Parts: sequence; structure tokens; C-alpha cells
Amino acid sequence: MRCPFCHQDNDKVVDTRTSDDGFVVRRRRACCACGKRFTTYERVETTQVRVIKRNGQRVPYDREKLRQGLEKACWKRQISDAQISTLIAQVESDIDSMFETEVESQFIGERVMQYLGELDQVAFVRFASVYRQFQDASDFAKDLGEMLEDSDDTLFTLKPLPHLIPHLKKLRFPKTNKKRIP
Ligand SMILES: [Zn+2]
Repeated sequence: MRCPFCHQDNDKVVDTRTSDDGFVVRRRRACCACGKRFTTYERVETTQVRVIKRNGQRVPYDREKLRQGLEKACWKRQISDAQISTLIAQVESDIDSMFETEVESQFIGERVMQYLGELDQVAFVRFASVYRQFQDASDFAKDLGEMLEDSDDTLFTLKPLPHLIPHLKKLRFPKTNKKRIP
């Protein structure tokens, strides 16, 4: 690994540890030329599948988009970055084990809801608050898939379903979106 400071390719690893429940290996390195230290991360290559949207369009799977949606749902909850990373890794593992090249967005949505529900009910309800029109579990999953494809700005801007409002009133939302919540 080239040193980011002096660009010499001569370093030694001074510390190795795993994070994100073992999904990421972090190595602390010391440059033998200039003595400065830097860090590298090693992880399994992200799933290369394409996502089939409900309109049939294919787009590359986007981990960061998924992470952003989850971070909003988990805002100020007792959920660590590592837990979010683990959830994403679980979803990706499911995709990799069941699909070769393409996966429907609905599948991703269903898996996210399953794992998020196990992790934190408030985050689950926040995620659910995105949807105006779902009538049952399958509609819900469909809409989640759609949300994952669209701008993450939609997460708190849609009007929640009436039966979710009592739950939502107990929750705290990011300041910038506060006025949107009834
Ligand atoms: Zn150096």
C-alpha cells in the first residue's frame, strides 16, 4: 500500500482488527519511509447485482442509498453504525445467496423491514411512515421498494397513515423535517 503522505510503497501493519461484526477488517499501517501512520479497510466486494424497479427499469444496487435511508430511520435511536452496517450486510448476503444478476426492489424492501423490525420498533415505524397508501403487508413491501429507489428526501415528507400517527407523535424526528410531522 502506497503511503498517502510520501507515496512510498513500503509500510508495515501495526494493528489489525475487525469491525462491523467481522464484515470489515481495519489495518493500521506505519510508513517505513516517513514514519506516518494511516488506516486501510478491507471488505468483501459489494454485490454487483442490478435492481429491477417496479417500472421494469434496471439500476445498479446502491449501498449508500440504502444506508442513508436507514440512518434517517435510526436517527437518535440506540442503534450503532455497526448495527446498520450489519443489517446491510445481511440484506446483501440474502441477495447474493438467492439471485445471480438481478433482484427485484421489492425483495430488498422486504428484507430491510424484516431486519429493521427485529432491531428497533421505532425505526421500523419511521420507515413505515413513508407510506401513504399501503393496505396490507404486501403493498407495504412494494412501497418500501419504491422508496428505496427514490430520493432519500422522501423519507419524512409524506403524510403518515392515520393509524401510525399515535406512534409517530411519541417519536422525535430530525429538526429539518419536524414541521412535516403532524
Ligand atoms: Zn510515508
